[in-house]
Amino acid sequence: MSIKADNVTKIYGAQKALNNVSFEIKTGEIAGFIGPNGAGKSTMMKIITGFLPQNEGNVFVNNQNILEDNINIRRKIGYLPEHNPLYMDMYIREYLRYTAGFYLSAKQIKPAVDKMISLTGLEREQNKLIGSLSKGYRQRVGLAQALIHNPEILILDEPTTGLDPNQIIEIRNLIVEIGKDKTIMLSTHIMQEVEAICDKIIIINKGEIVADDSTKHIIKESADIDNIILIEFGKKLDKGLLLEQNYIKDVKSIGENKWLIKAAIKDDIRQHLFNFAVKNNNSVLAMQKQEKSLEDLFKELTK
Ligand code: ADP
Ligand code: MG
Repeated sequence: MSIKADNVTKIYGAQKALNNVSFEIKTGEIAGFIGPNGAGKSTMMKIITGFLPQNEGNVFVNNQNILEDNINIRRKIGYLPEHNPLYMDMYIREYLRYTAGFYLSAKQIKPAVDKMISLTGLEREQNKLIGSLSKGYRQRVGLAQALIHNPEILILDEPTTGLDPNQIIEIRNLIVEIGKDKTIMLSTHIMQEVEAICDKIIIINKGEIVADDSTKHIIKESADIDNIILIEFGKKLDKGLLLEQNYIKDVKSIGENKWLIKAAIKDDIRQHLFNFAVKNNNSVLAMQKQEKSLEDLFKELTK
């Protein structure tokens, strides 16, 4: 099942939280929806899940307009809202039975709850109060809740925020496992997260989409934005001499005979630098391409 947003605009009072937002997530993809706080991620997710109406534009789930068939579409979507609002004084099983009751017949409830408890690794905790669980386990309950009716689409709003590093990895693995046969949109402000698990990346800033591409392509693009080489020469050399080279845009000294060199061209300039050293009676002790990270691209796009 696919998700498509077509020129969606959302206005809260005087504030435009989403401005003509369009994107598409294809069936089976895991899409990362990333942006700084206040960018509009949760707003967009509430619109897709039918909890909030947009002011303009359309959202299609499986090519159906969500405004036309809201109830039917909601059944096909699992949603983990931001901050995972759970009932702290309910037991895990009790809570899952309760949420299952919205979608499933009485007979289907117990097997569905059992299945979710096993899928999300809650066997050992299954008889506990939600309020007594660690944050990582609460997140598992939130995922179990979102998955209980076996939806084809999962909308996860910051599923790993607030977890410790081990819990983050556990929840990520769980998402990848679950995601094998689902379409997933997850929001986050952690860049490594999308690099690790998403097929595509949609970056939003101040209510507008600023990047939308496959993860592979975006990572490659971010590496191309600045082509920087870290080089260590064998001998001292004059900065002016480096700057005279037409394939060099800028240089920065970072230690004895060590330089960061920003290329003026897209190609790899290491061969040029090597030739330059030889020509100037110098030598190259070390040379390394500085990969620009997705994190850098994100900072650049959301400044
Ligand atoms: P994100 O999830 O990316 O942090 P949100 O979608 O929560 O962003 O918020 C986008 C913008 O809309 C923010 O500036 C936020 O303050 C504003 N906003 C969100 N919800 C409401 C609301 N119910 N009323 C007014 N403004 C809101
Ligand atoms: Mg949010």
